[in-house]
Amino acid sequence: MAEPTDSTRAPPVDLYIGLGANLGDAADAVRRAAARLAQTPGILDLRLSPLYCSAPIDSSGPDYVNAVAHARTTLDPQAVLAVLQAIEQVHGRERPYRNAPRTLDLDLLLYGRRRVDTANLTVPHPRMHERAFVLRPLADLAPGLILAQGHLEDLLAACGDQAIRPLDQPAP
Ligand code: ADP
Ligand code: MG
Repeated sequence: MAEPTDSTRAPPVDLYIGLGANLGDAADAVRRAAARLAQTPGILDLRLSPLYCSAPIDSSGPDYVNAVAHARTTLDPQAVLAVLQAIEQVHGRERPYRNAPRTLDLDLLLYGRRRVDTANLTVPHPRMHERAFVLRPLADLAPGLILAQGHLEDLLAACGDQAIRPLDQPAP
């Protein structure tokens, strides 16, 4: 008999999602997106990091609000991406041009130790290791994590030139 392939029977996998927004009430958008993720079947035990503010890097517009969520999931990576894109759509994301400011950006950062490299999905997220706005909240959820490029805290230290501050802390 063939092995069962139903991913819902597989043990849950550690999942990290990056959340960012810089239009409208960005903090509210991030919190509501996390709440929707937490309510999604197959996404379990979601924890949201503290929220941070960062200046846009490859984008424009006002400062970003960023966070990272950890969950365990029985969904496969493509199904997770579909969930993220559906939530982005609900939040009215429009894409008038490349890297335009957006109401909500959800990225699949890590799916256990799995590597995915398909036309529409690359995991681990290819730029996460060089972005303070990902590494700083990730360090709150998973201190000591080791990525392919090195220790999380070392990678974060290497991003020291990227300004990032807790949301509740006023700009200097
Ligand atoms: P970015 O998040 O890099 O600033 P976008 O959100 O505009 O840019 O990119 C969205 C596209 O990236 C989608 O078409 C999606 O298929 C693709 N993509 C590839 N890998 C990932 C990933 N790990 N998480 C989210 N989207 C991804
Ligand atoms: Mg994205």
